Amino acid sequence: MILRRAVVLGASMAGLMAARVLSDHADEVLVIERDDSDNGDDPRPGVPQGTQVHALLPAGAAQLDRWFPGFSADAVAEGLIEPTPDQAYTFVNGVRRVTPPPLTEIRTLISTRPFLESRVRQRTLALPNVRLVAGRADGIGFTGDRVTSVQYVAAGSTESVDADLVVDATGRSSRLSDWLGAAGWPEPTLTRMPIKLNYASALFERKPGEVLLSTSQTMAQPGQTARMGGILPVEGDRWLVLVAGFADDRPSRETEDFHRRCREDFPWVYAHIVDNNPMIGDVVTYHQADSRRRNYDELDRFPAGLIVAGDAVASFNPIYGQGMTSATLHASCLSAYLRSNPALDEPAWEYLKQVRVVVDAAWQISTFADLALPHVNGPFPRGYKLTRWFTGLILSASLRDAQLNDDFARVTTMLAHPNLLAQPKTLARALRGAIPRPLVTTDR
Ligand SMILES: Cc1cc2nc3c(=O)[nH]c(=O)nc-3n(C[C@H](O)[C@H](O)[C@H](O)COP(=O)(O)OP(=O)(O)OC[C@H]3O[C@@H](n4cnc5c(N)ncnc54)[C@H](O)[C@@H]3O)c2cc1C
Repeated sequence: MILRRAVVLGASMAGLMAARVLSDHADEVLVIERDDSDNGDDPRPGVPQGTQVHALLPAGAAQLDRWFPGFSADAVAEGLIEPTPDQAYTFVNGVRRVTPPPLTEIRTLISTRPFLESRVRQRTLALPNVRLVAGRADGIGFTGDRVTSVQYVAAGSTESVDADLVVDATGRSSRLSDWLGAAGWPEPTLTRMPIKLNYASALFERKPGEVLLSTSQTMAQPGQTARMGGILPVEGDRWLVLVAGFADDRPSRETEDFHRRCREDFPWVYAHIVDNNPMIGDVVTYHQADSRRRNYDELDRFPAGLIVAGDAVASFNPIYGQGMTSATLHASCLSAYLRSNPALDEPAWEYLKQVRVVVDAAWQISTFADLALPHVNGPFPRGYKLTRWFTGLILSASLRDAQLNDDFARVTTMLAHPNLLAQPKTLARALRGAIPRPLVTTDR
């Protein structure tokens, strides 16, 4: 126990996980959240993306079980779905990709985003020293080079609360940079990649017990438009179906457009689901202009007593499903930092360095794939062409080599760092397996 009071801004995935970690190190943890109502398992205004398909990667599931023992088992008992590998329909360029099964135990847990978040919230707020405060964080206060308070607006009046440590977890639109700049501190650089992603999701009735999980990726190439799709079996006997395009390819809110896209732009299973089950509610769209990261670790000066986590640091193309898992890994970095008995009157450089490892890994995976999109014009990392060739080789070889398939799956599900694929033995294995066969193997 090294803190008297820690204050977390934002009670979504990153804020709740940070609060869970802080509960082991502080007498009192306050979580300030602008959404003052608990919407249960329904989407809420502060997380507008909550209506869209959200998949939790296996590394995120492992972290949830680490911090909340029994989390997965309890959530499955309450309706979260765990599809088996034979229920997965993964399509690349319209053809079902059949791969050798991975060697490791990789759990895929499927639900709507609000269902998952509400279980994390219940578990976190059940901790005796964690308390939720309804209010909109409006700034941070300093004593010398240290953050020592938070200002927030609650029921029309501005309040201030003292803090030994403040965590900004207010998401992509975090105003922390502005707050730092206004107080005379340097602001982090912002790196952006313009992905121009357009999502449309809709819920459909699902017959009890019917389960399949699908992702569909169509790569951009001459005569072919890049698209992504997803079918998730979610709680409450529902399907959550996603159709996504890029740039000018924008799915609309029209039901007819949604059905037409499922029939014409995606493999047979999409039409099978949407044509045979009644739609529940409306089609909901979402546009994300860019992937972005704020490079706090590169600053010359940063105040003590301040942490930043989750999308407030970096948010990626959601298609790769890295956001919530990154938030859980940032919490793990916070735990490592606090357990190292840090000097709290010094900036949390060690934390920021560790978070950078997580951000770099996720950024590398997601932006690397996005750089192949015709409308994305950089920034290109050093050695891009070589890495692209090498990744293609591994991807292709992973279809026949169980060990490579396992390594590849561990990296894309964030269980392992991308460096795993850069080892000489991996390259040798991929080269050995590089016989000219097609990437995709069978239909249906
Ligand atoms: C369309 C879409 C699909 C996605 N799909 C996936 C997926 O499949 N898998 C995955 O892992 N991730 C996915 N993501 C990413 C995921 O939604 C985010 O990475 C994740 O929610 C980040 O959590 P966070 O806590 O950092 O921020 P957020 O979830 O954005 O939460 C920020 C919180 O801060 C609160 N807040 C903001 N400002 C203030 C303030 N001033 N005062 C008090 N409270 C404040 C908000 O109300 C909110 O509760 C997707 C994102 C999008 C846009």
